Amino acid sequence: MKDIVCKLLVIGAGPGGYVCAIRAGQLGIDTVIVEARKPGGTCLNVGCIPSKALIHAADEFDAARRLLDGRSPLGIKVDGVTIDLAGTMAWKDGIVGRLTSGVSALLQKASVKVVHGRATFRDGKTVAVETETGMQIIRAENLVIATGSEPVELPNLPFGGKVISSTDALNLQVLPKKLVVVGGGYIGLELGMAFSKMGSEVAIVEAAGQILPQYDAELVRPVAKKLKERAVALHMLAKAQGLSADGSSLVIETADGSREQLPADQILVTVGRRPTISGAGLEELDLDRSGPYLRIDDRCRTSMRGIYAIGDVTGEPMLAHRAMAQGEMVAEIIAGRKRSWDKRCIPAVCFTDPEIVIAGLSPDEARAQGYEIRVGQFPFSANARAMTMQSEDGFVRVVARADTNLVLGLQAVGRGVSELSATFSLAIEMCARLEDIAGTIHAHPTRSEAVQEAALKALGQALHL
Ligand code: FAD
Ligand code: NAD
Repeated sequence: MKDIVCKLLVIGAGPGGYVCAIRAGQLGIDTVIVEARKPGGTCLNVGCIPSKALIHAADEFDAARRLLDGRSPLGIKVDGVTIDLAGTMAWKDGIVGRLTSGVSALLQKASVKVVHGRATFRDGKTVAVETETGMQIIRAENLVIATGSEPVELPNLPFGGKVISSTDALNLQVLPKKLVVVGGGYIGLELGMAFSKMGSEVAIVEAAGQILPQYDAELVRPVAKKLKERAVALHMLAKAQGLSADGSSLVIETADGSREQLPADQILVTVGRRPTISGAGLEELDLDRSGPYLRIDDRCRTSMRGIYAIGDVTGEPMLAHRAMAQGEMVAEIIAGRKRSWDKRCIPAVCFTDPEIVIAGLSPDEARAQGYEIRVGQFPFSANARAMTMQSEDGFVRVVARADTNLVLGLQAVGRGVSELSATFSLAIEMCARLEDIAGTIHAHPTRSEAVQEAALKALGQALHL
């Protein structure tokens, strides 16, 4: 097989890699992308998209079931409702299929050459790819490592049998009667809640003192309340010890040091993700690390000239939109444009019920950075649109500098608040002050009015509170 020589080689076609390759192709750079599995990476195939499809299906089923018990104040009655998980998964696979073929089409449109197979570094400029038709050698002036991440396995609870990863959970064909989730972070909560809504009896085992420990307690409270209403059992400060002798239960050590057995049909382990570094010959390149991740600078350059790294392989926050922004930037840098990482915030959303969205600094983070702040918080219980949508739990919060009113952070918890993430990020990127948000007309009746009201509240001028 003839060697390929190109200006840019991207390894991994997840959101980081495929965006980088598309932008590079658009800029006229001779680009090759290598993917071992399917285009779209974790996000499109076994992450963001299938999980959100499942969450939507679970919401629909749960809403229908709530009508069934005759307690709907809306006057709606239904006669019967069931869920066919295999059918739900087939619908989800259809969405994944549409998106992954869309990525292939976009790569083709941008004249990017796609090579299917696993890439291994030979040296800093050469990669060998095991393809179906043999070994393909690719030599490139610039390389981008976008190999992503994979689920962390617990030594005492290896994946296999009833112990499953998020990838397996997103492909279950039969609903587990009893589901135990180890790790109450993003994935554990999003999927745990979805399975609870579909009818599984769910228990969550979390090592920290609260679920979603990456968020402040006030933001998490409405989610914890919803879990309680759903009778999801929460085991905080608890450690998974392994399967019971007969394999029927998960043995945990509880906060007080005692042992408890949690019966389980499936045990979903979601205790974080680790960078995909081994197996690609990256160890031999001896690139500098930051903890387990590849160390990068503000241009996503690694410690070796001509080698860049983007996305999950470079560490937290492991989010698709960060990977995409890095990919776009690196393509432009390789095309000769002057770019560096200048983002003021990376928003994050947890798609629980209710949803949580954060951008910029929380009150505690702002204080820890030495700012004197003013905080405005507006509850959805005082928002008309939220009332009409039976979604009064939660609030919007704005954090601003006390001296200049510059917005440092925006957070919200509530139904559908993920869509506020654009407003939040835009306000922070545009260096908005409280007066800018307060002085912007927000359409009525919408839940976004709570953002304006939070800013008014921080200025001591709340109208609807
Ligand atoms: P990946 O998407 O992991 O892609 C890396 C690609 O590289 C893979 O396709 C892999 O096959 C390929 N690869 C690896 N090694 C090689 C090799 N040697 N040769 C060739 N190819 C190779 N993020 C959000 O922002 N929002 C969400 O709602 C969200 N939900 C999630 C839900 C779940 C269940 C999971 C697991 C993750 C979720 N994430 C979410 C995280 C998101 O999926 C990742 O942050 C994102 O996919 C990272 O993109 P990436 O390009 O760095 O890597
Ligand atoms: P996570 O870091 O969000 O949560 C892991 C949780 O497991 C933490 O709460 C941690 O305290 C707990 N934990 C760790 N070890 C444990 C143990 N031995 N026993 C019990 N609990 C333990 O990780 P995740 O949920 O696996 O998700 C991985 C990454 O994927 C996230 O960091 C996030 O970046 C990304 N993701 C994002 C979204 C989103 O943006 N909506 C959704 C899913 C995943």
